[in-house]
Amino acid sequence: MDGLNDLKMEKLADELKRGALHPRNLIQQCNKQVDRIESAINALNRETFDRAVARIDEWQYDPARPFSGIPYVQKDNICTTGIATDCSSMILQGFVPPYAATVDARALQAGFRLIGKSNMDEFSMGSSTEYSAWGPTMNPWDTGRVPGGSSGGSAAAVASGMAPLAFGSDTGGSVRQPAAFCGCVGLRPTYGRVSRWGLIAFASSLDQIGPITNTVRDAAHALMVIEGPDEFDSTLVQRPKENYFETIENGMSDLRVGVLDVSFADWVDTRVKESFEKNVAWFDGHAKSLQEISIKSFDMILAAYYIIAPAEVSSNLARFDGIQYGPSVDLKEEGKEVDENTAADLMDFYRKNRGQGFGPEVTRRIMLGTFALSSGYYDAYYQRAQKVRSRLRAEMDKLWTDVDVIISPTSPTPPFMLESATVDPYEMYQADRFVLMQAMAGCPAISVNGGWTEIDDDGVTKLVKSKRRNCFGKYTKRLPIGLQLTTAPFMEGNLLRAARTFEREHV
Ligand code: GLN
Repeated sequence: MDGLNDLKMEKLADELKRGALHPRNLIQQCNKQVDRIESAINALNRETFDRAVARIDEWQYDPARPFSGIPYVQKDNICTTGIATDCSSMILQGFVPPYAATVDARALQAGFRLIGKSNMDEFSMGSSTEYSAWGPTMNPWDTGRVPGGSSGGSAAAVASGMAPLAFGSDTGGSVRQPAAFCGCVGLRPTYGRVSRWGLIAFASSLDQIGPITNTVRDAAHALMVIEGPDEFDSTLVQRPKENYFETIENGMSDLRVGVLDVSFADWVDTRVKESFEKNVAWFDGHAKSLQEISIKSFDMILAAYYIIAPAEVSSNLARFDGIQYGPSVDLKEEGKEVDENTAADLMDFYRKNRGQGFGPEVTRRIMLGTFALSSGYYDAYYQRAQKVRSRLRAEMDKLWTDVDVIISPTSPTPPFMLESATVDPYEMYQADRFVLMQAMAGCPAISVNGGWTEIDDDGVTKLVKSKRRNCFGKYTKRLPIGLQLTTAPFMEGNLLRAARTFEREHV
């Protein structure tokens, strides 16, 4: 292994098929990489290499399962049988699921080998992986910066050569934004395409699981592994698996591209604008047509999301009382009588357990959500936010008659410094401005690498041409900038094809 980003599922599958590589060696190689860099990156909440190599001697190449033997990382809010799953939260510390999420069961059925559970913002709330009870994950391209979030551990694991595949969950950008910050590919499928069974809920009307990989083709393979009917998720649109490879290499000369105009926005970093302009020029030469689009409700989406998501949080997280898992408060030690029949004591017990079990951002969301749903405020906040969501959906539905793909930056800024956005929650929320509309409208979207920016000694960055990957040991300061593509619901075929066409000429 001679650098970052060189683990590609397809390439590895080919080596396994030819007998040039045995999964035992591949898993060992990943284990070595984890040993070498994990202390600097903190991408994994726990490693499961022992399980990954179990009965590996019996492994045989099976053409029906071409990825059998390939390592993957699972986000720590996705249930894995017999392996602790704590959402990077104290309140779930020690929770060992007795069952696997559908996505995890399918990955295992396909023969993938789980090597670890990845760090994340607590219960997926955040955009930097700093709100983790187990400490932040660092960006493999510059360990002074964040990897994005909330699936930052998954993205950092893929970007640093720990595994060619990691799953993340995307409620409002948590797969795409960390993929952009780490120079990977991150795919958010259409809401209802991938089963949410076994995903510990954040905001159920928005949550989707998606893969983070090093190539668009690998993302397509991973999606084909995890999608498809599942009786356990009633919000799933029960449709058969698709074969994205029938069209993925067909170019995009038949696709109409809509460009989200970002030139006016003073909150978009100039290097992001510059990189985006270059990418727009490329699409001009490759798409059927290019037109600027605007979304009237765009400026209201952030506010609406930060009402709707916390409202769902306040109900989804009500079940965690800190009694079965996590350290619970000992009332006796505080000199109180424990009387479980007395509501006051029990409430006190819950309150204290929840107070110490949840971190500050989760607490803030529960309070925001409870407030927004409370009588008297429901109409003023929650209902108005839902109206914004409906309006956005209607606007986007209309847009799809004029364009097939929308392009935009993934994030308004390149990866930011650790601790620079944790002081002011609103600052952190700003990182999500380009990734919320897809979640709110239920559209699929993908983030691919759209360029690189170099940091000089003063921390000032400029765009650079070279896209060459660096070895972690001899790295130079170069930061990825993401490009995001979005399509209408269930049009992942076009989405992956357009992204692949772009990637073919850029990576
Ligand atoms: N950053 C967003 C939030 O904090 C989205 C997180 C996510 O998609 N899980 O809510």
